[in-house]
Amino acid sequence: MTAKSMMPYVEGNSAIRAMFEEGARLAAEYGKENVYDFSLGNPSVPAPDAVNEAIREILDEEDPLLVHGYNQSNSGYEDVRTIVAEHLNKLHGTSFTAGNIVMTVGAASGLNVAIKTLVDPGEEILAFAPYFVEYGNYAANHGASLRAVPADTVTFQPNLEAMEEMISEKTRAVIINSPNNPTGVVYSKDTIQKLAKILEEKQEEFGTDIYIISDEPYRELAYDGVEVPYVTNFYDNTVVGYSWSKSLSLPGERIGYLVFPSEMADFENAIQAANIANRVLGYVNAPSLIQRVAARCIDCKADVDVYDNNRKTLYNGLVDAGYECAYPEGAFYLFVKSPIDDDVEFCAMAKKHNILVVPGKSFACPGFVRMAYCVSHDTIVRSIPAFKALMDEIKGE
Ligand code: PLP
Repeated sequence: MTAKSMMPYVEGNSAIRAMFEEGARLAAEYGKENVYDFSLGNPSVPAPDAVNEAIREILDEEDPLLVHGYNQSNSGYEDVRTIVAEHLNKLHGTSFTAGNIVMTVGAASGLNVAIKTLVDPGEEILAFAPYFVEYGNYAANHGASLRAVPADTVTFQPNLEAMEEMISEKTRAVIINSPNNPTGVVYSKDTIQKLAKILEEKQEEFGTDIYIISDEPYRELAYDGVEVPYVTNFYDNTVVGYSWSKSLSLPGERIGYLVFPSEMADFENAIQAANIANRVLGYVNAPSLIQRVAARCIDCKADVDVYDNNRKTLYNGLVDAGYECAYPEGAFYLFVKSPIDDDVEFCAMAKKHNILVVPGKSFACPGFVRMAYCVSHDTIVRSIPAFKALMDEIKGE
């Protein structure tokens, strides 16, 4: 018999499957081009040519036993980790070495490794609503519980006052995510400094370590030159999780890394524990060929102009049609206020106009819906009249 603990996931999954099936049904009935599917955060820009070229060069030039082999260290190839560390030092004025980096199977495994490394069963992790729904599952994987800090639904910056009140001696970590999924908001330097100050005071008060786990798969997707502060520069007990899933459009290749700064509490044990966590969680090491590709493509830039153009067109189209939304500065999501109280009901109404969006309830923030604009620009342009018709229906016009 299937484990009882998995049954809530199985039941939850049927809602996701139903959404996929509905998308496929609508596409079959009305034609793919007449369905406006904003439900998935799957990059719509192909990986840069440099990625495929790097794969070919590696296969032609490097030792196959090295390229396809187990890594000597569960943290990944030392030369790759050195390239990552030097890249970060150049960008952020840090002083990392290979010894601060653990290569991971995307951000998802990085988060699991970070939680296993830092958080004991029974301890608590805080996350600012709205947040990526998997955080709760990752915390549960390690016997920890995730508590949602209520959203500031005006700015969608982290609600620091609410967080401060929720911290106790059981709080071991706070997960932040900027640029944010689902809001597109970027946390300012001022916000990070205030967050750091509160956590330092709370560490002092409780005599504990409270880590920031900074989940950064969207770091490169920031628009209009907005600065995305590097959190280790503001708070020693920070672990950064990065991934090339979105920045180089490689989500299926499963590649990312964690950064453990030497200044963090109990660094020597933590970095060893992370190395072991990579092994005992069954990842063993990040995919070896793609580690080497990422190193060769370390200076490659994502073509963010495509997403930026989508962002402006969808935002302006929605605001013109009467929708309310915080202007997103990064990632590829809009978090739009549901024009009716019930966001799930709104998603059902949207579906009748061939629009697929995700309820805010799925991100611990009801009353809003998420729209992933990593779709073709044409889809966005053609969706605007459908959004207008939906608003007219709601207003009873
Ligand atoms: N964190 C956030 C906020 C995400 O949106 C995602 C994927 O959508 C992930 C983590 C997982 O990323 P990866 O594909 O690198 O595991």
